[in-house]
Amino acid sequence: MNWLSNYVRPKIRALVAPRELPDNLWHKCPSCEAMVFHRELEDNLQVCPHCGFHMRLDVAKRLSMLFDDGRYQTIELPKTPVDPLKFRDRKRYVDRLKEAQTKTGRGDALVVAFGTMNGISVVIAAFDFRFLGGSMGIAVGEGMLAAARLAVLQDAPLIAIPSSGGARMQEGALSLMQMPRTVIAVEQVREAGLPYLVVLTDPTTGGVTASFAMLGDIQIAEKGAQIGFAGARVIEDTIRETLPEGFQRAEYLLEHGFVDMVVHRKNLRATLIQLLDLLIHRTPAAEVVVLNTEEVPRLGYDGAADGPGADAGEAGGAEAADGDPAAGAAAVAAGAAAAPGGDDPADTGASGDGATDGGGTGAAPGSAAPGSGPGDAGPVVETTGAAPGAPAAANDGGEPAGGRGDG
Ligand SMILES: [Zn+2]
Repeated sequence: MNWLSNYVRPKIRALVAPRELPDNLWHKCPSCEAMVFHRELEDNLQVCPHCGFHMRLDVAKRLSMLFDDGRYQTIELPKTPVDPLKFRDRKRYVDRLKEAQTKTGRGDALVVAFGTMNGISVVIAAFDFRFLGGSMGIAVGEGMLAAARLAVLQDAPLIAIPSSGGARMQEGALSLMQMPRTVIAVEQVREAGLPYLVVLTDPTTGGVTASFAMLGDIQIAEKGAQIGFAGARVIEDTIRETLPEGFQRAEYLLEHGFVDMVVHRKNLRATLIQLLDLLIHRTPAAEVVVLNTEEVPRLGYDGAADGPGADAGEAGGAEAADGDPAAGAAAVAAGAAAAPGGDDPADTGASGDGATDGGGTGAAPGSAAPGSGPGDAGPVVETTGAAPGAPAAANDGGEPAGGRGDG
């Protein structure tokens, strides 16, 4: 009966025994409260598939999402004095440090990684928020300097990805000194003529915001990220006013000019690559085609009556017919400067009308010009030349040449 107890019984037991289910298979979205299956969330880079809410992303996942094939090297950061103040609150600082190190497997809150993005060598300095709230102490300051040195050494752009609550309280004034030190790090990269980009993630607050995190050549923020110096509640208590909706969120900061772009996480890698490409490859990727700008001087200042108005008119007409709003606006400008007038050719004397009438008036110069109406779309090739010229014409204060078109 040995085979029964030794072989059959464990097999049956394995079949019948309740499988242990991890209790974190489903995550509740903090924004729309939808339940999302963990695998779906992982595939979606921790972004809620229902409402697009960006949850915090683990730094290791973030790095592998950014680098080519998810491959990168982390560099060992310089050793720094541990707990210089022998600080103690409810717990000793050294104990807190040890705890965080065991939990995250990292020496401190900053990870400096080196790898390639679309073949471009890049150094990324990213924060691990799980390590004491990504707070900036001596080790982080030293890490930023090391990242800058590595970038200069490798002739590689530096990307900083903060996710931090600010300065590390337990290191007192020493943590505040990291603010100027990280600024020096940025300065080193800049002096070497290398791009320095910042990707602001949720949350970027305190001393980090007040130093390197706001110094990027291009400031990128993840959707919905909280970015600010002091917390909203502190500000409200200080100024005794209710803060506007969405205060300190990425979109609000974009509107107020603090960040250059707000990017969805799934587009982050592509956006960074595109920016790096632009910043590093200073020569254009393709041959530059010179546009035909013949019309420009004729539109603007010579006032020659050899029928250039017709050209401008055609251009305007063609663009309005194309329905391209931007080009239409340019055409309007041309209309204002060169051939003001309404839809009716008899109206051509009424200067200024054209400019205020909106896109439709792009057609006006066209209708005023002989032989070309909004309907008969003129040569599109010419429009490209005429459109950029239009503002120049306006700047020149070119005399209203409605007559030109007519004559
Ligand atoms: Zn959601």
